[in-house]
Amino acid sequence: MSGRKRLVVVGGGSGGLILANSMVRHGDFEVTLINDTEYHYYWPQLLQIAFRGDDSQLRRSIYGLVNRHVNLVIDRAEKVDLANRKVITASGKEMHYDYVVLAPGLTIDHSAIKGNVELVQQFGDFHSTPENAWRVYNTITSMRKGRLVVAVADPGHRCPPSPYEGVLLADEALRLRGVRNDITITLAVPYPRAYPAETFNEVLEPVLKERGIEIQTFFNLDSVDVQAKKMITLEGNELGFDAAIVVPMHRGPRLTLLPEDLTTDDGFIKADKLTNRVGDYDDAFAIGDASTSTSARTGVTAHLQAKVVEKRLLGLDAINTGRTHCPTEIGFGLGTFVISDYQHPSVKLPPKRVFYVMKRFFADFYWDVLKHPEFWDPIFDAYFDATSPEALWKIFR
Ligand SMILES: Cc1cc2nc3c(=O)[nH]c(=O)nc-3n(C[C@H](O)[C@H](O)[C@H](O)COP(=O)(O)OP(=O)(O)OC[C@H]3O[C@@H](n4cnc5c(N)ncnc54)[C@H](O)[C@@H]3O)c2cc1C
Repeated sequence: MSGRKRLVVVGGGSGGLILANSMVRHGDFEVTLINDTEYHYYWPQLLQIAFRGDDSQLRRSIYGLVNRHVNLVIDRAEKVDLANRKVITASGKEMHYDYVVLAPGLTIDHSAIKGNVELVQQFGDFHSTPENAWRVYNTITSMRKGRLVVAVADPGHRCPPSPYEGVLLADEALRLRGVRNDITITLAVPYPRAYPAETFNEVLEPVLKERGIEIQTFFNLDSVDVQAKKMITLEGNELGFDAAIVVPMHRGPRLTLLPEDLTTDDGFIKADKLTNRVGDYDDAFAIGDASTSTSARTGVTAHLQAKVVEKRLLGLDAINTGRTHCPTEIGFGLGTFVISDYQHPSVKLPPKRVFYVMKRFFADFYWDVLKHPEFWDPIFDAYFDATSPEALWKIFR
């Protein structure tokens, strides 16, 4: 026995990889990271594939991103037994821990909406796999006329602004192809307004209107009839399309957690929104998309939660502020950010060129942020302080 505390991290995505690379710097932890693939995926790139045919930043080998002192295991965690402090993997390994952090992300359930499996085969989507994002690219580059519908089925989807980025990038791509005048773009959402948060809607809705995007509110998608090319709502209303993309239903990770009552009906891990602690277990935390503790399913949130859990594992009393910081590309070289926290609604940050440049720039140094948290932590601390919702609300009223 080394006397060091055994930390097992499940999932080497935006949250888990940062946590493992951060914790290994503290010599009294022996860190094991379990990831079920040899790759780390940068999911925002699905938008770039779907609307620009660019997959350059999609994934990197996880071997090149993980600190060499982390014990990396490529395997699938099948069961996590909190009472007996062990993780059991698909290959039959049993890993005992002193602390466990669950960061296995989420899964996509196309079949939850009748007809959507068939629809995705035909037109793709930009929330599930690179293959489906390439299908969207084929749709966008071959469509000549008619109606393109993007419908949000799950309000808890990853990256709150992503459907809006989708329609605005579709608009850009269709304009550049010279076919936009012959194509109607409709965004169908279950909310009472285009964007659910009222303050940020004041920023986004005028942009959508200016770009000629139709908005259908209170749209509760029930099923898709691919043959008849129509969507049907819970209330029985119909919306016809020539091409359509659904932001699909999201479910919790492919993982059995014991005790079972610490998982919601749709499979997400119940964790405290301030501390990320799972139930009453002082030695178990869940971060990022897999957990109910997330204020928005974004990489930034997973990253910030990893930093809170790092401090808590070191015995400090850190808590989440609920900070969101979602870069939002609106096409034609412009962008904005959705910035909020538990105390402040989303700031009314007007679209600017500089915000677009920041989003694109971040994709380039994302990989270094994962690998070298010791270098980036102070930079991010200063950046998040300077761009706090409290500070920004004083400027953008
Ligand atoms: C279109 C789109 C645009 C987005 N844009 C942004 C953006 O601009 N900014 C932003 O911050 N976020 C954005 N996001 C969201 C962001 O990608 C996710 O919120 C983030 O990746 C969540 O991190 P995570 O660590 O919780 O999960 P993930 O990054 O999904 O990582 C989970 C990891 O766990 C592994 N895993 C899963 N199950 C198991 C298991 N049982 N055992 C072992 N390993 C397992 C997976 O292989 C994966 O490596 C976007 C997402 C999409 C789809």
